[in-house]
Amino acid sequence: MRQKGPLKQFDEFDAWSFSRLGERIGSDEVKFDFPRLAEDENIVSSTVEFWEVSARVNAKSESVVRFKGRFNAELSCVVCGSGVEYAIDFERHLVLVTSEAQADAYDEETLDEHTDVVACPGAINLRDWLEDEILLACPMFPKHDACAEEAGRSWREEGDGEENTDESQDDTAGGPTQEVQRPFANLSDLLKGSKK
Ligand SMILES: [Zn+2]
Repeated sequence: MRQKGPLKQFDEFDAWSFSRLGERIGSDEVKFDFPRLAEDENIVSSTVEFWEVSARVNAKSESVVRFKGRFNAELSCVVCGSGVEYAIDFERHLVLVTSEAQADAYDEETLDEHTDVVACPGAINLRDWLEDEILLACPMFPKHDACAEEAGRSWREEGDGEENTDESQDDTAGGPTQEVQRPFANLSDLLKGSKK
């Protein structure tokens, strides 16, 4: 990429042209600071190891931007409050549409798990956007492995909620008797009943 002065060009980043041109930029060429990562009270410390933003026009003539990278973070454990180390790989593909209405109307069933739709009416701050993606990739409930066991006793869901139409018993039946009433067991009966 040509030298275009400081980072100004990324303040009003044209993701649409970037896609049409099939461009790519990454941390090997551009250095960004991520102030929100640095200031977030749940992030004790973090280092973005690398990032890459690339884009293309797909077979359906849609512009798709891909955010990818890896960062190391020490996050506050939700159980004990002390730091827990994470190495987080992120990768998300975003199909651009021109308005929120279009984004709402988009049939997300056609997308895979790494892909979302985003309204991108005009120029956007690329650094902010990338930082959003990094923050989104942080685990919602960071926990130490040991702390996770602790928390798991009350949080475990026992695979409930998978509404199989299959009548056959699965093999987990016959395990230890469950002492705890699952909070949503009755709810799912209610829901089943109301659908008839
Ligand atoms: Zn902990």
